[in-house]
Parts: sequence; structure tokens; C-alpha cells
Amino acid sequence: MESPSLKTSIRTLTGVGEARARAFGRMGITDLGGLVSFFPRAYEDRTVFKPIAMLMEGESACVRGTVATEPVLSRVRGRLELVKFKVVDDSGVLDVTYFNQSYIKDQLRRGEDYVFYGRVGVQGARRQMTNPVFERESAAGGVTGRIMPIYRLVSGLSQRAVMGCVRQALDLLSGSVPDALPESVSRRFQLCQARYAYENVHFPADFASLELARRRLVFEELFVLACALSMLRGRRGAENGIRLKPADLRQFYYSLPFTPTGAQLRAVDEAVADMCSGRPMDRLIQGDVGSGKTLAAAACVWYAAQSGCQSAFMAPTEVLAGQHLETLRGFLSPFGLDVRKLTGSMPARERRETLSALKSGECSLCVGTHALLSEGVEFKDLALVVTDEQHRFGVAQRAALASKGSSPHILVMSATPIPRTLALMIYGDLDVSLIDELPPGRQKVDTFAVGSSYRPRINKFIRRLVGEGRQVYVVCPKIEEDESDEAASGLMSAEEHARELRREFPDLTVGCVHGRLKPREKDAAMASFAAGETDILVSTTVIEVGVDVPNAALMIVENAERFGLSQLHQLRGRVGRGRHKSYCILISDSRSEETRERLAAMTHTNDGFKIAEEDLRLRGPGDFFGSRQHGLPELHVADLGADMSVLSTAQSAAADILRADPGLELPEHAALRSRAFELIDAAGGRFN
Ligand code: ADP
Ligand code: MG
Repeated sequence: MESPSLKTSIRTLTGVGEARARAFGRMGITDLGGLVSFFPRAYEDRTVFKPIAMLMEGESACVRGTVATEPVLSRVRGRLELVKFKVVDDSGVLDVTYFNQSYIKDQLRRGEDYVFYGRVGVQGARRQMTNPVFERESAAGGVTGRIMPIYRLVSGLSQRAVMGCVRQALDLLSGSVPDALPESVSRRFQLCQARYAYENVHFPADFASLELARRRLVFEELFVLACALSMLRGRRGAENGIRLKPADLRQFYYSLPFTPTGAQLRAVDEAVADMCSGRPMDRLIQGDVGSGKTLAAAACVWYAAQSGCQSAFMAPTEVLAGQHLETLRGFLSPFGLDVRKLTGSMPARERRETLSALKSGECSLCVGTHALLSEGVEFKDLALVVTDEQHRFGVAQRAALASKGSSPHILVMSATPIPRTLALMIYGDLDVSLIDELPPGRQKVDTFAVGSSYRPRINKFIRRLVGEGRQVYVVCPKIEEDESDEAASGLMSAEEHARELRREFPDLTVGCVHGRLKPREKDAAMASFAAGETDILVSTTVIEVGVDVPNAALMIVENAERFGLSQLHQLRGRVGRGRHKSYCILISDSRSEETRERLAAMTHTNDGFKIAEEDLRLRGPGDFFGSRQHGLPELHVADLGADMSVLSTAQSAAADILRADPGLELPEHAALRSRAFELIDAAGGRFN
């Protein structure tokens, strides 16, 4: 038989039949490699032994003792089966009870020695354990007296079964776990050997060994990912892209009603350099709300049009697509460029016209929603694909749009500032341009964090602003009252709050918009607010994405403690978009220290990047990863909150290795190469 390798099927393990293999399969584990990389989600410390007399209420501990009475089986209320007996050691007596496990009676013998591990209950002078795990004293060390791994389970698998399989896999692979870390790297960062790491992450000899193992595996995971991302960029560099002809952007800039900021110019220059390089561009423009990303995109569209090429611009909602259409037309039609719209709701005749103008090449820019992806949308010469608010689209959707051309340039735009270190990881296979400067003259949005006792004053303030002709947003954390949902009880619901505001302001128009409305109803409510027909718009976070209502001057967030800082920043970005002095009021009655710190951060700065960094510091990166549709593989060991410093070390180590050996072709990099390619292939060739 071939010697076992990481690719050996788990079916070769004793005890793994069809059913168990299927259960493992549901967790994505099919071979020994998958099994040894299936790391415990937690550990249970069963290393503490105590004399019975020293056991304390509520603690979990091991007891070494003799079964002193014959285990007795009894039934309670007909159904419940109890097995009871006493265990003694030199110090005292322990009552042991098992529920509904009558077979225990035959597994334990009076007079023999065992180790029990379980949670201790104390009643008066009596100590007891219920359903403790146990094993014979002579064979102890399997499930007692050690640090136990705890695995994520699916039905059909038990902790014991997984442990047994991992044990077998490690033994079979003994010595042949390929080490993905080049020796130079392990040495430089003092990381333990792969074999030791895999052994101790599953079956740690002690907590120090576990820490050593974890440190290495975290490093390895981030290092391999960094290598994969970096190779992907290298590979993309080799593809053939559409080479645009040089053009003089000054013409375009002169036509604008304002002067572009330095950051906008820089972002456009970077994108233009990509589009003239002969390789396809894959670039993210990241810029705070209101930083003027649309203009940067417009400049790129203009540039492509100078070479006679077409562009597509995809936005997440119809309202946004409509706004972009207006803005982009304003920038581009002075040059005679034909700019059109394509959305799901437009009349068939208009749609047919747009489609034919796209196919003939007459239309230079098509702005639209997902409708751009539909069948029958064909371009004559699509050179540039722009997606706005990229986190609203999946990798697949952007790829679908790109496939309407032949390797078109791709520009994605995001208003969610992400700290640099994290951006490198999340957008590792994209080039990133930062627009880190707001157009001049932007007013700071004055921000206040208050308790709900301020409500009467807030209502007066609403009254005053609306009296001056302004509009108001109110954001609530949930849609409607739902008594069954306890976690959400006490939270302000959008529908209920809208009713309250209608009672409070019977003469004003109060709209309500949330995710449970039909897209058409949602768009109608937004459009009415944008048109100035609604005074107060109560909503959930659906309004987070870039709709521009310059007349809105007040953003109120209810239960502000429920929102992430970056999310609050996005919400605040909905106001202060016009010439009116604007305000943001964060309402929260939470007394938590962390909440107070977070809300205070909002009142101190309007800088999205500072806020993102603060958010990362306070809450970890869960949010950045959770809410975003990126294609990065799930991390098994690394926790980017806790392991942030490892991340940058691993990235720079990866850069060093790839500089010396870009294709990872040296024999000492073979294991690393295969791990990196596995990741790339699993992601379908691109992560973002
Ligand atoms: P975002 O980055 O949030 O998408 P927009 O592109 O919507 O921002 O721009 C916000 C507003 O700023 C728009 O009204 C736009 O016309 C204006 N703007 C963009 N660039 C400049 C600039 N350089 N000077 C002045 N106003 C600008
Ligand atoms: Mg925008």
C-alpha cells in the first residue's frame, strides 16, 4: 500500500464508514490533510486533580477514586433511568449519578479504581457529580487528566469519534506532514516544526505547548494566504489587457465646475497608468463618504472613451443608479459622450434602445443595476467596468459583468474605510488607491451622543430644522415590534417609531423604509425623500448606501449602541452633503464603558479612517469580515483581532520569499507552493 499522505481518504481510518465519512464531508473534510487541519474550536482543561474533600461547588475537576458501592439502576417516573453509586478516596465520599445511561452499570466494578472528570455539586457536606466522564485508573490519560480538544460537530459525529480519527490521522502521517513554512522563515521567527504544531494543537501536552503550536499555525495560515494573494497578482499581471491610448486629462478637468482634489488626481493617475499598461486593471478606490469617488470613476470613463471604448457602471440600487446617471451625464455629455441607463424597471422600448446603442458602440457609458448582468446585454467594445459600493456585490457578480467584455479593466469603489493592514488582506489581490482628502469647504457634521431623556429637546430640534426647510433621517435598529424576539426587546423599531413621530408631528410627512418592503416600495419611499416630499424618513440601515439628499441636515440614530462605528460613520455620511449645516444625534441609554467610548469617538472625529481604526481596536475585525462579501477563505486558527501583529509580519515574510522566488519554484518552496495554489483554486482563481 502507498504510504499515507495528506490526500489519503479518511475512509482508510478505522471506524470511518460511509455514514461517518459523509458527516465529515458535510464539514468539508474528506482526506487526512483536512482532518489534521480541522482545529479544535476550544479546549477543556481536565488536568486538575483534587481530593474529594477539596472539591468546590461548580468547579470541574478530576477525581481519582475507588467505586465503593455496587452501581444501582433505578427508574423514576417510569421513564427516567438512574445509575447511582459512591466513589471514595482517602479524603471523602463522592456521590455519582448517571441519567439515562443504564449501560454504565455494567462498565464499572465495585472495588476498582477509576478517574472521574465532571462538574462538582455540593449539598451540605455531600459532594456529587452527574454524568462525569470516566476511565480506568490504569488506562487514564485518554479523556481525563489532560487538555481535551473540543471540535465543532455535525450530527453523526461525536467528540470522541473526531478525536479518535484525528489521533489515527496524526499517527498515520507521522513525520510526513509537509512543512509549508520554508526553514528560513521558521528559523527567523522562531516557529516550531509542523509536526509538533499539529500534534499539540489537537493534543496539547500542556498550555505552553499549545501556545507554541497555535503561534506557528496562525503564522502559517496568514503567510500562506499572503503568498497566494501575492501570486494571484503576479498571475494577473501576465494576462493581456486592453491598452488604452494616451489622452490629455486636463481637457476633462478644465470642464468641471470645481478643481479635483490632489487625492482624486492621484487615484485617477494610478488607474490610468493601469489602463495604459497592457495589463487588465484590478483596482479598488477607497474613499470616505463624500470624498468624490464618482468623479474619479468619471475621469476613467472619459479616458476610455478617448480610445473609442465603452464603460459600464454598476450600482446596488435603482435610486443610486439614477443619481449616478445624472452626475455622470453632467460630467460627460459636454464631450458629446452618450450616457444611458439600464435597470430592471425601465420600459421595454427604452430598454431595447439602450441595448442596441450598447451593441452598436454608440453608447459610451451604461449606468445600471444588476440588470446589466442579464442576458442580451452586449457591448461592442467594453473596456472598463466600474462597481460602486463594491461590498454590495459578490465576486461572482462583478466577474459576470467583466465577462461582457474581453478582460476589461475593473475599478471597484468602496466607501468603507478599512485600516491599511486589513485592506492588504481583504483586498490582497486588488491594487488600492486611497482618496484620503475631502473636497475643500466641507463642513464637519456636528455629532452628539445623548440619552433618551433628551427626546423632548430632540423633537424641538427636528421641528426647528424642518421649519427651516431641511429634512431628517431617523435610523432604528429593527423593522417592527416582534414579541417573540427577546434579544431585540427594548429596541426601537422603525415602524413603531414612524407611528410615534406621526403622532408627534401630525402636520409633517413621515416616511418609513426598511428591508422587508418590496424593492419598488423601497425605491418609491427613497425617491419621495430625495424629491423633498418627505420631511422625516424613518428607516433601518437600508439607507446606509450612498444616496445623495443634500437637503437632509439631521441624522438621528436610535439605540446607537447596536451599530458598529464604521456603520455609524456611514450613516452620518448621509447628511452634510449640501451647503446646510448638518447634525448627527446618537441616542443610547447603554451604560457600557465600551459603548460610551465608541460613541465618544464619533463625536470627536469625522475621519472615516480614524474611526475604522478605532472600531478595529474596540471590536476586532469581525465586522469588516462579517458584513463584506469577499472571497477570502475562512481562517481556521488566525483571529485577525488578536493576531493583527502576526498579520503584518507574515505579510512581509511572504513578500521577502516571493521577491527571491516569485513562482515559488525552488524545491524548498514546493510545499508552500502547493498550499498556496490549493487556496487559489478553492477560490476559483480570485478572491476579490
Ligand atoms: P462619494 O465618494 O461618497 O461617492 P461623491 O462622488 O458622491 O462622493 O461626491 C460627493 C459630492 O462632492 C458630489 O456632490 C460631488 O459633485 C462633489 N465633489 C466631488 N469632487 C469634488 C471636488 N474636487 N470639489 C468639490 N466638490 C466635489
Ligand atoms: Mg458614492
